Formats: sequence, C-alpha cells, structure tokens
Amino acid sequence: MQISKPDKFYDLVVVGGGMVGASFCCALEEALAETSLSILVIEAIPSNANLAEQSSFDARSTALSFGTRKFFEGIDLWQALDDAVSAIHEIHISDRGRLGSVEINRDEQNVEALGYVVENKLLGQALNARLHESEKINLLCPALVSFVKATEKGMQLSLNHGDTETSIDTSLVVLADGGKSPVCEQLGIAQSIERYDQHALIANIVFEKPHQNIAFERFTDTGPLAVLPLKSIDGKNRGSLVWTLSVEQAAQYAELGDELLPLLQERFGYKLGEILEIGETFVYPLSLSIAKEQVRPGLVLLGNVAHTLHPVAGQGLNLALRDVQALVDILINAQQRGLALGEMNVLLEYVARQKADQTTTTQFTHNITKLFSSNNEAKVWLRKFGLVAIELMPTLRRGIAERLMGLNKGGQK
Ligand SMILES: Cc1cc2nc3c(=O)[nH]c(=O)nc-3n(C[C@H](O)[C@H](O)[C@H](O)COP(=O)(O)OP(=O)(O)OC[C@H]3O[C@@H](n4cnc5c(N)ncnc54)[C@H](O)[C@@H]3O)c2cc1C
Repeated sequence: MQISKPDKFYDLVVVGGGMVGASFCCALEEALAETSLSILVIEAIPSNANLAEQSSFDARSTALSFGTRKFFEGIDLWQALDDAVSAIHEIHISDRGRLGSVEINRDEQNVEALGYVVENKLLGQALNARLHESEKINLLCPALVSFVKATEKGMQLSLNHGDTETSIDTSLVVLADGGKSPVCEQLGIAQSIERYDQHALIANIVFEKPHQNIAFERFTDTGPLAVLPLKSIDGKNRGSLVWTLSVEQAAQYAELGDELLPLLQERFGYKLGEILEIGETFVYPLSLSIAKEQVRPGLVLLGNVAHTLHPVAGQGLNLALRDVQALVDILINAQQRGLALGEMNVLLEYVARQKADQTTTTQFTHNITKLFSSNNEAKVWLRKFGLVAIELMPTLRRGIAERLMGLNKGGQK
C-alpha cells in the first residue's frame, strides 16, 4: 500500500523497490501469513516514470530460470506473468564462423521449458501492482535514502521524500538499491570489481521468421551475442538482443539506428531469416562486482548491490531470487524463534546457506564470459572442442542445462 508519510519505526526497511527489493517484499508478505511485522519499502523512482529513468524495469528482457518460475508461483505472481512470458524450448549455443554448436532442448531435459523470457517493464508492472495492493507492505515512493547508520538499538535511515527530510528507525535494513549504491559506499562496504571492458547493447528486434521458442547464444569475435524469444506483437516476430561489445563499438553501434541491421545480420546469421527492424538501443557497462561484506548487524545486502554478474548466462536475477527465498525463510524462522531480525547470528545463517550457490554461479558466469569473449587461439580451440564435446556428451549437456535452469546450486539440487 502506498503511503504518504512514514512512521518513526518499522521492523524491517527495504531500500530499493527494483526487481529484487520488490520481489523480496512480495515473498516476505506471502510467508508472513498471520504474523505481524511492520515493513516499509522505499523506492526512489516513481512507478509511472519512463523507462530511461528506472534501472530495474527498463527496456531489457530477462531470462527467468525454471527455478525462478517456481519462486514466482510460490508467491502467486506467476499467473500475472504467464501471458507476458515466452517459454524457451531450446537453447542454441554456437561460435560464429567455427565448427561446433550445442543444442539443449526441453525434451532431453524432461521439463516443460528450459526457462522463460519476460520484458522487465512487464515484470515491473506485476511487482508494482502487488506492492500497491498489499495490506502488509508500506511503499514510500518516490523517496531517496541518503544515509544509513547503526544505532544502539538497530539502524537509522535518513531520507528525502518530496520536500521533507525525515529519519526512520528499524531492526533490519535490506539494502537492494542496485549496483551503483552510494549507501553502500557511505557505509564503507567495499566491492571487489573486475571490469570486463565490455558494454552490452540492448534492443528489441523483429525477424522475418518466428523464433519457435529458441534462445540463441552466439559467440562472435566482438563478444557473446544473445537473442531471446519474445511474445509476438501485431504479428511481428520479436526477439530481445543482448550484444556484448567493446566499449567503443557499443557507443558507436548505439548511434547507427537502422544502419546497424546489416552488421547484426552478419554476426547473427540467417537462422531466423532477415532481421527487419531494430528498436531503441540501450547500453550497459559490464563488470563482475561482489560486495566484500553482505551482512552486518541490522543490515543485509541483496541483488546487484551484493553481486553484479555479466549477463551472458542470464544468472543475475535468478541467483538474487534464490537469495531472496533463503533470506525470507531464515527471517521467518528467526521471528518464530523470537530472535531479533537484525541479529548477526540470524544473518550469518543466511550467508552460510547461500555461499555455495553464490560462489558457483558467479564462477560459472565469469568463466563463460572469459572463455567466450576472447580471440586468444588457445581459448578459441578450447571453445571449439568444448562445444563439440558438450554436443556429444549428454551428461555434460545436462549439467549445463541444470545450471541455466537454476536447478543446480553448487552441488545442491
Ligand atoms: C543487459 C543485462 C541483461 C540481463 N539479463 C538477465 C537475465 O537474462 N537473467 C537474469 O537472471 N539476470 C539478468 N540481468 C541481471 C538483472 O538485471 C539484475 O540482477 C537485476 O536488475 C538486479 O536488480 P536489483 O533490484 O538488485 O537492482 P536495480 O535493478 O538496480 O534496482 C535498484 C532499485 O533501487 C532503487 N534505489 C537506488 N538507490 C536508492 C535509494 N538511495 N533510495 C531508494 N531507492 C533507491 C532504484 O531506483 C531501483 O529501483 C541482466 C543485466 C543486464 C545489465
């Protein structure tokens, strides 16, 4: 429920109502049942802002794993998304101009779909609608948290809301304010950052032929190029392009408009016939960034502020939602045991539960990025051999498919 004036104290305050913060609130609300906790989520950007302003619900599309579908089903949100998502029945992985390709399909993996693609703005609408309808979650928006500090009793946040500056006390701050977090910096939480010197160029494109629910991951000399299947609109066969490029190329290509089509066609090939249209382009810098601390007494970091991954394997949000589920489970359990939500032992339980998943998912994504973004001869050979080997060996293919589906979490299933 949207509020215009916050109370002085909440049991839990979420900073950032983007994909991760909003999903956390919805999952917590679902798990709360009859128990009462006062919860506030503070979001800087108004719900009706245009796409260029909102980092979470912008023009991108996101590949949701099968595990993420289960998460959204568990919080009764999948129904609202069902009409908006495109199922992925097959994934084609290939290396442009070289032998060797891999096809992973749903029949072999014995699942209804390998994953689903949703446009971020549609996911944003579903999450926002839920936050507005909720009786238990208080939404203060637009409001900007400017300062967070530890106090004797818990945490205190300073925020600007309209023309008002105010402060709020809480037992637990869930920081979900994204990859560029001034709050994190202000708290002195350092990030370990590896810049890939690559940017992702994003656009929606229209093909001559229907995608038949195939997601394409193509490794080109400029970096990985992915095309995810989107729902067709007005008979147009739509796909979502994520093209990894050098910083200079991304800036240059983003200015080309329709002149980009022949370049893109040359890199992607003719698997879906001619590329007929390209929509507005957006550019995102890419890096691997991991917070050096994920918890402190009264504080936990979630989503991009905790770990930002390269989008090549579509793992960032999927991993963050597994974190969300783990944190919700642990907080509810702590509440039932009468423990304070911000108690360090409770938060360390969360860190311990997610450590293996976070480490293996981050490593998997980083290794793929490095392997497939290089023209180094040794890596090219490894790639060629690797793709042929994966195609020949069903167990290897199954391992990769499970990771992409979000079912293999650092050895746990
Ligand atoms: C090109 C690209 C493609 C991707 N594709 C995939 C994919 O296919 N699959 C996948 O799983 N992941 C994918 N990801 C990753 C995914 O987008 C991120 O995991 C996700 O956006 C993280 O969301 P977040 O809520 O943590 O951060 P953000 O999206 O940055 O949201 C942060 C929110 O906090 C708000 N905020 C910030 N500061 C404050 C403040 N001080 N006070 C109040 N509010 C504040 C912001 O307004 C924003 O709404 C992709 C990423 C990129 C860049």
